Amino acid sequence: MSSTVYEFAQTDWLTKDEIRDLQVERLQDTVQRAARSPFYRQRFASLGINPASIRTPEDLSSLPFTTKDDLRSGMPWSFLAVPAREAVRMHYSSGTTGVATAVFHTQGDLRRWAECVGRGMIAAGVTADDVFQNMMSYGLFTGGLGFHYAGELIGCITIPAGAGNTARQIHLMQTFGTTVLHILPSYALRVALSCVEEGITPSEDLMVRVIFVGGEPHTENTRRRIEAQFGASVYNCYGMSEMAGPGIAMECQAQDGLHLREDHYLAEIIDPDTLEPLPEGEQGELVITTLTREAMPLLRYRTRDITQLLPGECPCGCRHRRISRIVGRSDDMLIVRGCNVYPMQVERVLMGYPELGSNWLITIDQVRGMDQMTITVELSTSFGVDDARMLDSLRERVEHDLRDELLLTPVVELAEPGKLPVSEGKAQRVRDRREDR
Ligand code: ADP
Ligand code: ZN
Repeated sequence: MSSTVYEFAQTDWLTKDEIRDLQVERLQDTVQRAARSPFYRQRFASLGINPASIRTPEDLSSLPFTTKDDLRSGMPWSFLAVPAREAVRMHYSSGTTGVATAVFHTQGDLRRWAECVGRGMIAAGVTADDVFQNMMSYGLFTGGLGFHYAGELIGCITIPAGAGNTARQIHLMQTFGTTVLHILPSYALRVALSCVEEGITPSEDLMVRVIFVGGEPHTENTRRRIEAQFGASVYNCYGMSEMAGPGIAMECQAQDGLHLREDHYLAEIIDPDTLEPLPEGEQGELVITTLTREAMPLLRYRTRDITQLLPGECPCGCRHRRISRIVGRSDDMLIVRGCNVYPMQVERVLMGYPELGSNWLITIDQVRGMDQMTITVELSTSFGVDDARMLDSLRERVEHDLRDELLLTPVVELAEPGKLPVSEGKAQRVRDRREDR
């Protein structure tokens, strides 16, 4: 183990009071900076708000939220708060829910972004002795470059593998003795499967010990699966392009919630319907105000992601507050026969069954005016599919558990391994074929 002390990571050990003081100071700066962008200048003017009146996190409640639609309406330049010549990078949000939006960075923004991710990597035990293979896609999507510079900052041998080309990924892991990965959870499970198909047992034949997963919702059961398959510790990493990218919140070795980097991001949880703030421990939509972003500060940005602020202190000693695993986006909530369903509720049930594989799909149809939900899930490769009675009983058990979780009865279809389509990027879990969608 290296004993390097990373100066930039020391901010993880600030006291609660120190964090609060920094937040107050940086919030005042941020509001002033935001007011230089055409969008916020106009917003403050039309609402008659003096940016200097926002002094503490509590004062933020007098500001309206910023939404993805605001970003779209301001494309491409309206949110830029510095002269264009000071911006050095542009990323595009991947547009999972519609038109993509541009996010700009100054050199300082890029440095702080790398440091945020780096702090999370260090908290998970990564050092300069590690070989880090970054399996997130490079390019407009922030997952690749966001971790890349953090790996180099820590001093890891950083392999910019990018996403896809599984055979080459396995070759790289074997050749260079990769110890750390960053990967979409759905892709991690596929890589593990491909290893097994090639006669490689990842937990024994590879040297991977730490895996960062993020970019898409996943459940605790999925984490445990990836851990078992690779014989590694899996840490959840949350982020979004609008806030820079990955690294806004990351798990520490306690694996019990993701520490927000509160010296850079100020979090609130609101009820997505009433827009009222919710107390710690209550689930709602995460709203973030950036505290140090220069090129594109955002005030009270509605992330659409559903989570909660966890009460209590983490045993790791870091006093930056934690959010829970993201349950889903408020906009991926499905309404089926009047019931609210998050795809992650389905994943939670399915991944509890060792007989089932890791690829699954929800299809919703309208049959004679009624919603019908079908859940297709692949069987695990290690499960014999010959015994029809066993399959029937498995299907019944899964249906029963899903009914308990979702409060409606889906049709369950068991598919042979490899039968369902695999997405190149983030997993596509829902096919809604109802007419009015
Ligand atoms: P897009 O919003 O177009 O997908 P991004 O690539 O910026 O663009 O994705 C950010 C979104 O990805 C987040 O708002 C969140 O919904 C999801 N996400 C990122 N990391 C995680 C994670 N660890 N757990 C659950 N969801 C995540
Ligand atoms: Zn912790």
